[in-house]
Amino acid sequence: MLKISNLSSGYNGTEVLRGISLDIDEPAIYVVLGPNGAGKTTMFRTVAGVLDPMSGTVELGGKNLYSANEVRRDIGYLTHLSALPEEMTVAKALGFYAGIEDGDAQKAMESLGLNDLAARKVSSLSQGQRKRAAIAKLFLRDRKMYLMDEPTSNLDPVVAKEVRDILLRLSKEKYVMYSSHNLYEAQEIGDYIVLLKDGRLGFFGKKDQLRTGEYRVGIKASGDLSKLFPEATHEKEYLVMRVKGPREVGELVKKMVNAGVVVYEVKELGNPLEDLFDRGS
Ligand code: ADP
Repeated sequence: MLKISNLSSGYNGTEVLRGISLDIDEPAIYVVLGPNGAGKTTMFRTVAGVLDPMSGTVELGGKNLYSANEVRRDIGYLTHLSALPEEMTVAKALGFYAGIEDGDAQKAMESLGLNDLAARKVSSLSQGQRKRAAIAKLFLRDRKMYLMDEPTSNLDPVVAKEVRDILLRLSKEKYVMYSSHNLYEAQEIGDYIVLLKDGRLGFFGKKDQLRTGEYRVGIKASGDLSKLFPEATHEKEYLVMRVKGPREVGELVKKMVNAGVVVYEVKELGNPLEDLFDRGS
């Protein structure tokens, strides 16, 4: 569906995105993850066809994005600035864009839970409601690809969760790229992770494949565990074990239970994804 080949892009002759290649063939949510300044927005602008690449190509459904204008219509792009006109009502604004795009405003409002807000002026909406209204514009009609650039930034955690849930629901069977600088958000929403670091691709794959780094588990339990786990270390009130992944945690617990130990708590200490931002690509 989306084929990015050796894509470089930037501003005023300076490369920001450097030699990205990516093949996306399965409908899913692809979280483009990276710290601020990594090049996420630059990547989205280039893939949306808003910014011309310096070299490389992007193909959507087998067609070159930069030589076929109609291909860009198949991409829904939500930017940080996406918003409906302030002085219009939600229904008027979405109706207006639906007219231009041959879309269905009613259906989009329903999908985003905007029916109760239809008669409200955009200027009177809360941040979360505005975001939902802006997202509705992308769903006025079916598109091949949805690019969501940090759709939850500046939203409070409860509203952010609400927006993520809506996107998860709407994204079933669709191709979605969703950018975030938040590791936990990426894990919650993403099927695949595209890690960007200094404009380069650091990792691309299923999110569980990313958990190959060291995974540390803290255990609180009754009795002396030093015989059971001689290799364990201590950190504050926890006994710390290093395992390959979450699956091994079950085995640890089983071993303790079989030894008659009462397990009070088992928790993940830190997140192996965190290392990725620091690790060289
Ligand atoms: P992210 O979205 O991951 O935070 P960006 O793609 O916005 O990263 O920015 C990547 C780099 O490109 C930064 O160093 C930023 O300063 C630079 N940059 C972004 N937009 C522009 C612009 N319009 N002109 C010049 N440089 C820019």
